[in-house]
Amino acid sequence: MTDAPDGNRAPGTGPAPGAATRVLVLNCGSSSVKYQLLDMADDSRLAAGLVERIGEDASRLVHTPAGGRRRERTVAVPDHESALKALSAELAADGHGLDSPRLAAVGHRVVHGGLRFTEPTVVDDGVLAEIERLVPVAPLHNPANITGIRTARALNPRLPQIAVFDTAFHTTMPEHAARYAIDVATADAHRVRRYGFHGTSHAYVSRRTAELLGKRPQEVNVIVLHLGNGASASAVRGGRCVDTSMGLTPLEGLVMGTRSGDVDPAVVFHLVRVAGLSVDEVDTLLNQRSGLAGLCGDNDMREILRRVDEGDERAQLAFDVYVHRLKKYIGAYSAVLGTVDAVAFTAGVGENSAPVRAAAVDGLAGLGLAVDPGLNAERSDAPRLISPPDAPVTVAVVPTDEELEIAAQAYALVAHADG
Ligand code: AMP
Repeated sequence: MTDAPDGNRAPGTGPAPGAATRVLVLNCGSSSVKYQLLDMADDSRLAAGLVERIGEDASRLVHTPAGGRRRERTVAVPDHESALKALSAELAADGHGLDSPRLAAVGHRVVHGGLRFTEPTVVDDGVLAEIERLVPVAPLHNPANITGIRTARALNPRLPQIAVFDTAFHTTMPEHAARYAIDVATADAHRVRRYGFHGTSHAYVSRRTAELLGKRPQEVNVIVLHLGNGASASAVRGGRCVDTSMGLTPLEGLVMGTRSGDVDPAVVFHLVRVAGLSVDEVDTLLNQRSGLAGLCGDNDMREILRRVDEGDERAQLAFDVYVHRLKKYIGAYSAVLGTVDAVAFTAGVGENSAPVRAAAVDGLAGLGLAVDPGLNAERSDAPRLISPPDAPVTVAVVPTDEELEIAAQAYALVAHADG
């Protein structure tokens, strides 16, 4: 789909020194903006930061230049426009202003691209209108993404703004995986289908996993387990997603920090009709008061494991429900793929929690899965294998890097347009 971010560029074909090779990646949420400045000449990170509590009395800005000291301060940031102005002032102070000739593009993480956006896209007014049309299916996310794009464009109208969609990698899912078995006319009228999210992570990790195996993405089938505060699994056949666990929204699928993942939809009717909750209250319950937090009061896996060690039964139950769901998806995606070359763990829990990885594959020798306890216990930031050398299926830990993937996709688009 894109050039590999670590680009196997042929000698002599790289960009000229001083060329516009930098990409500012913006991830705008409803009350925060996360950003990173990357240089695609060598995939280096020049700065990273965060503006949070936008619109509150005391917003906070944290900015860390590469190799420099972290700067943190309280700033007046009433809206996203002020947030972008504040972060571009920080970048400018390091010599990386939005007017820098070395900046090639701004890459925006856009959560929902529906069926329309299957690739990273240069934003113009028509594209903005399309993203706006998707607000009903992503009411929490797309409005903030749109504001981010508009504001960045106003700050430097000449700079290409590239939208990179969380859903895009999943648009290759076949109809039978993307469809809910509900009335087709109703579903189509309201765009109710499975879209999937975390797409940049699943794309990046599945490709890196192929590299780790010494193969091309087209040659391998990979199950990616993105286990962060949000969590999703995907089945990737030959570099293309054929199923993923999140659906119309990020609520479906695995047990997450605060989201329930799969429930019988009749739970909603029951809570409305019998428990007397409003639809909004059920929405909040399932998205914010469920998952690990709902089961045991904690959404941080580190804390849950600490409590498990102390013999805490609610924490043990939360861990068991989490792992049981994970196993069901590993089994389901093994069946979907038929042959599995690798299972890759990624994101906060997947990269750091040896107990979760061990429990997830425990008893799955019948599917060819096992981890070597010594390899699994090793701590490292590098992609690595944790299965025994002779295991039929490789189990790997592959740190994700969504910002690098967004920058690589955005840069590939503008570099190709130039060439
Ligand atoms: P992410 O959304 O990818 O940033 O992941 C955040 C989650 O990673 C947190 O909720 C933590 O539960 C989890 N996490 C981070 N470090 C560890 C660790 N060492 N062990 C278990 N979980 C961890």
